[in-house]
Amino acid sequence: MANKHVLVLGAGQLARMMSLAGAPLNINISAFDVSSEKIVHPLTQNIIGHGLNNAIAKADVITAEFEHIPHSILDICQQSGKFRPTTQAIKAGGDRRIEKQLLDDAKVANAKYAVITNRAEFDDAITSVGLPMVLKTALGGYDGKGQWRLKSTTDIDATWSESQQSLSDTPHQAIVAEEFVPFQREVSLIGARRVNGEMAVYPLTENVHVDGVLSLSIAIDESELQQQAAKMFQAISDKLNYVGVLAIEFFDVNGKLLVNEIAPRVHNSGHWTQQGAEVCQFENHLRAVCDMPLGSTKAIRHAAMINILGQDTLPKEILAMPNCHIHWYGKEKRAGRKMGHINVCGNTQGELDKALKELVAILDESEFPELKQHINQR
Ligand code: ATP
Ligand code: MG
Repeated sequence: MANKHVLVLGAGQLARMMSLAGAPLNINISAFDVSSEKIVHPLTQNIIGHGLNNAIAKADVITAEFEHIPHSILDICQQSGKFRPTTQAIKAGGDRRIEKQLLDDAKVANAKYAVITNRAEFDDAITSVGLPMVLKTALGGYDGKGQWRLKSTTDIDATWSESQQSLSDTPHQAIVAEEFVPFQREVSLIGARRVNGEMAVYPLTENVHVDGVLSLSIAIDESELQQQAAKMFQAISDKLNYVGVLAIEFFDVNGKLLVNEIAPRVHNSGHWTQQGAEVCQFENHLRAVCDMPLGSTKAIRHAAMINILGQDTLPKEILAMPNCHIHWYGKEKRAGRKMGHINVCGNTQGELDKALKELVAILDESEFPELKQHINQR
């Protein structure tokens, strides 16, 4: 098979894991750092070139590992005719106004909302959306950043003064006010779609966030919920004429799913597929964007993933644990930074739970806050 060259906008861990997954299929990845305009090797971070036009010229296909990309860059990529999924999908992932409109257009259930750019609209939203509500910046939010909770009328002025600051800090900024959803849990669906509309989705993943950041993901097997999620995946991905891997985050409210947000890319909650599925999300993204047949998304064992945040060492016994797989991202240590993850597997649910308990017993509790309690509750 002829080599394919895929350019990834963004040079972080997702480009790195695409590179690892693409190699067996002769798919080579280079990564483009959108702020420095450097083309880098996704594993070594060595500089291999400069400039967007240069990078585009060498690529067969262009894709992205994140959604906060300047529209000027996306437009140039779009003009090359090589960009996948679609620049519209990336724009929706990077701007909650466009994203909410997309969810409405695709007729998928999502939280009631209003777009706010001034105090009068904020006051109107308090009436139309109702309290409690969650305020989120339209642009630039990730890992729970750029969000405020407004619970009672006594906090209206204080919340407004905090959140309005973001309006003046960023050009074209707005705030999306959403009703607070009293969910029992959060789940996500990762799937791939080809140019011809063929789709394949992975089993749903249950996600636990700590301080707004994903901590633990566990693949689940619940057919009713899976069907609901797959229908919404189809509606959204068809609407976008999507090509590649798409992630959808949901709130589970008494067995009824509401879409929280989408990520037009491979996703942290799908990292378990590296060990838990026949073909992982990174390989399937590359297959889809290169217009190759999709690989099976079937689970081959029970699997979970634990994020490693802000640290670069782990007890070395983990390497000897038969059900644990460590994936480091080769990044410099910084507080709270996503440094790597551990995939944990089992042939049965019981075996997986046992492995998770054995693992948290040796992890430093202060480095993995609340994790032990979540796992031991299972
Ligand atoms: P990430 O990039 O990590 O997915 P984010 O910053 O894009 O996060 P959201 O996923 O929208 O932001 O929100 C972060 C978390 O805040 C959610 O996972 C959920 O726990 C909570 N949250 C968000 N919106 C609501 C809501 N409307 N009601 C209740 N909780 C919410
Ligand atoms: Mg989210």
